[in-house]
Amino acid sequence: MFCLRHLACNGGDIIVSFSIPEKLTRHIPCCMTSSTTDPFQVPGFPHLSFGTLFCIGRNYAKHAAEMKSEIPETPVVFLKPRNSIISSGETVRIPNISKNVHHEVEMVVLMGEEADSISPEKAAGKIAAVAIGIDVTARDLQSEAKKAGLPWSLAKGFRTFAPIGNFVSADDAGNLQNLRVRVKVNGEERQSGNTADMIFPVAELVSYLSEHFTLSPGDLIFTGTPEGVSQIKPGDIIHATLGDGLSTLQVHVSE
Ligand code: ZN
Repeated sequence: MFCLRHLACNGGDIIVSFSIPEKLTRHIPCCMTSSTTDPFQVPGFPHLSFGTLFCIGRNYAKHAAEMKSEIPETPVVFLKPRNSIISSGETVRIPNISKNVHHEVEMVVLMGEEADSISPEKAAGKIAAVAIGIDVTARDLQSEAKKAGLPWSLAKGFRTFAPIGNFVSADDAGNLQNLRVRVKVNGEERQSGNTADMIFPVAELVSYLSEHFTLSPGDLIFTGTPEGVSQIKPGDIIHATLGDGLSTLQVHVSE
């Protein structure tokens, strides 16, 4: 007997295809690497991997007003790449291309089950957990994109632009529509809001997104930011909290 896994091991998966009918061709995890290594595994939820980052714009009336934007009639949806996620203790890096990067503190929802065209009433059962997060935004690039009628992806999706704190299970978080979201920069409070003020509550966001996309376990929803967004600069320390310390996040800012 010989070991298939040692035939062409180069540290990654190997493809076994010799003399095996095509329909049986498959990837076999390499013996030299742990098949459980997943850089996107959700901390505290080992059965979940981060999926798509759905983000909601203008979900608090006072933030829409400070951005001189209309109150939307349906949720404003955009996406970030999952490689933009960082954890507490890591560093937000300001890209050279932007001269004005902002914090947007937001409650982040972690999906625990698939959701496909579900009603708001069914949404709560699909949510695994929530956390505090920051939708870091290159405001100058976003403004230029808005003026030109172009997408916001570049302004929102840079590496390190999605810091997320610890996840707390939806059961432990209690009423998701009555949680404070706060952020301090260098100890000074910049944003303090309450999820009670969302234009579209979490259940409606999940239902709305699920009408148009299939939500998978591990997908995230950044639920929008209250007023008070402001610039962050290299050297700043950002501290954000959800509720009474349910979820916390501290990151610093660098070039
Ligand atoms: Zn945002």
